[in-house]
Amino acid sequence: MFSRWKKAPDTADAEQGSQDTLRSIEGTKPCNEVGCSSTNGAPCEYVDRRHEHCMTAWCPEHQIVLDGHCYCRRHANTIEAIGGIQITTYGAALPDIGNRMPNLVRWISNDLDGSMRQLLDAAHRPDELFKREPVHAVRGIDGFIRWEMTWQLFNQTGSTLRVTIEVDEREPVVVIARVSNAKVYSATPPWIAAAGTDPSGVHAHADESQRQAFYADMASHIREGIAQDREESVSEQ
Ligand SMILES: [Zn+2]
Ligand SMILES: [Zn+2]
Repeated sequence: MFSRWKKAPDTADAEQGSQDTLRSIEGTKPCNEVGCSSTNGAPCEYVDRRHEHCMTAWCPEHQIVLDGHCYCRRHANTIEAIGGIQITTYGAALPDIGNRMPNLVRWISNDLDGSMRQLLDAAHRPDELFKREPVHAVRGIDGFIRWEMTWQLFNQTGSTLRVTIEVDEREPVVVIARVSNAKVYSATPPWIAAAGTDPSGVHAHADESQRQAFYADMASHIREGIAQDREESVSEQ
């Protein structure tokens, strides 16, 4: 079991974020929450990599404070999805205001986490350790950005097996799974296919059986990919 494995520093702890429920920030703007009449809203402090600001403001009851900064729910989610402000490919530059891809990758990877840990636990060799990397942006050699997160096995020589969930900005509703570098699955999640809009917002309302079928299908392709990758790496030795 993974419980006796060495715990990598960037696992679930980092992804849970650092929501500070003890502090709140007062401002002078009307709160954007529907039905809230407070006028002590503070602006969401999210600024993306193009220097666009989020234009919303939120009263102490409806804001989310992370590390002493006020955010709307959506952008607090984005920051938590990428593992905190400090962890991005661009230094302090954050995803575009309207970018929902990191949230989608985070949803999928959280929902798949249990089955991926089981699969890698079953596949690991005695000298291999496990770690989960947080969601992050990668710019491909073609110049396009994709959002991805990875579970991996590694030993003293480096990474030995990687399972990656990714969403490419050219097709932001398609979720791709890779085992090491081989693409083993790609599909639009049923709740996005059904709604065609906010992937994170409608996730909770997606038809449960369709959602389970989607994850089961993806997991079974990943399982086959892992089996094949392990066979190949044995025959290489
Ligand atoms: Zn409010
Ligand atoms: Zn915002």
